Amino acid sequence: MQKTIELKVKEPFIQDFQKGVPLVSREAITNESALKEEGAIIDLFDSSHNFLGRGYYGRQNKGIGWVLTNKQDEAIDFSFFQRKILKAINKRQGFYQDEETTAFRLFNGEGDGIGGLTIDYFDGYYQINWYSDGIYTFKEQVIQVLDNLGDYKAIYEKKRFDTKGKYMEDDDFVKGERGEFPIIIKENGMRYAVYLNDGAMVGIFLDQREVRKAIRDKYAKGKHVLNTFSYTGAFSIAAALGGADKTTSVDLAKRSKAKTIEQFSVNDIDFEQHDIRVMDVFDYFQYAQRHQLKFDMVVLDPPSFARSKKRTFSTSKDYPKLLMDTISITEKNGVIVASTNNASFGMKKFKGFVEKAFKQMNTGYKILEEYHLPADFQVDRKFQQGNYLKVLFIQVK
Ligand code: SAH
Repeated sequence: MQKTIELKVKEPFIQDFQKGVPLVSREAITNESALKEEGAIIDLFDSSHNFLGRGYYGRQNKGIGWVLTNKQDEAIDFSFFQRKILKAINKRQGFYQDEETTAFRLFNGEGDGIGGLTIDYFDGYYQINWYSDGIYTFKEQVIQVLDNLGDYKAIYEKKRFDTKGKYMEDDDFVKGERGEFPIIIKENGMRYAVYLNDGAMVGIFLDQREVRKAIRDKYAKGKHVLNTFSYTGAFSIAAALGGADKTTSVDLAKRSKAKTIEQFSVNDIDFEQHDIRVMDVFDYFQYAQRHQLKFDMVVLDPPSFARSKKRTFSTSKDYPKLLMDTISITEKNGVIVASTNNASFGMKKFKGFVEKAFKQMNTGYKILEEYHLPADFQVDRKFQQGNYLKVLFIQVK
């Protein structure tokens, strides 16, 4: 049993916790030095010792812990984890019943009531993401809940915190029967190869499911599509399945080429009809301009931060420039799919980037559609930072 540490909340932060904000930031408390071992239960109080919430101590880039309950008589025990996870599963019954989609997020951190923990479901396999040493101390309880559900293939995990050489012995496998990777999952009838034993990125980002569907069903037919920062080419696959004439995928990572070929192949698409380039996107823009290449559709889904040999890039600073480069190689009436997962700004600012870029390029535009996180990526209304995904379908006029 973890011991409970009492934390005193500074005056300006009291209201936040009363309203139900789940993140505990360093600035919010007066006695940070009381925190010793991650995973300890923390009780938050105001200066008159009124109870504000109970959670756990765990350091992430986002803060030093999460509030898990505002009820003083609620214990953080096995039954707590069970209630939260079962509730999350109940909300996702539609996904379990959808035979065309076999992968989804089963538990989404604070959106489902436990910050620092996510669980993805990949066709009978669970993948748990632990975001701090603190949440990792609850491993036994979480595994037990999943185990009790029965009928699964295996549980894998990713420790997304600094393990400093700890746990060197394991390979992300936790329990069940080891999978043979890749496993092939389905998403709205498209197939994707997924690896749960090969680093943090498994081959597909589940939060873009609805965007891939829109590209396939509404935008791709007969089009030449450029997919930048393409990773395993998931958007290219969707476009090809939607009848795109051709796709061009560009990613700097050497392994992206083999990974993209694999994704085309598991969908029975001849990858040789498509262009897959291992190249810096910024160099590709120059190349395209020199050769006067124009595309009917360009997908822009950069990482929030990227550092290559030549340059560093941050979406919060450089997105307008990225859009300007994109506009110059997009056909009139073509569509730019502009996406960002940067949690530090919202849709309003993102639309501001779009406005700025088109203005600078002296080009008209129309926003056709916007997408946010899909329903399985539950968001806590009191924590909008968790609502990180912003995608705009923009027509170039
Ligand atoms: N759009 C992808 C996910 C992108 S992940 C999808 O939906 O699956 C970000 C990718 O950007 C990584 O594969 C990384 O290798 C690539 N990347 C980062 N900086 C880059 C750059 N300057 N040029 C090309 N690719 C880059």
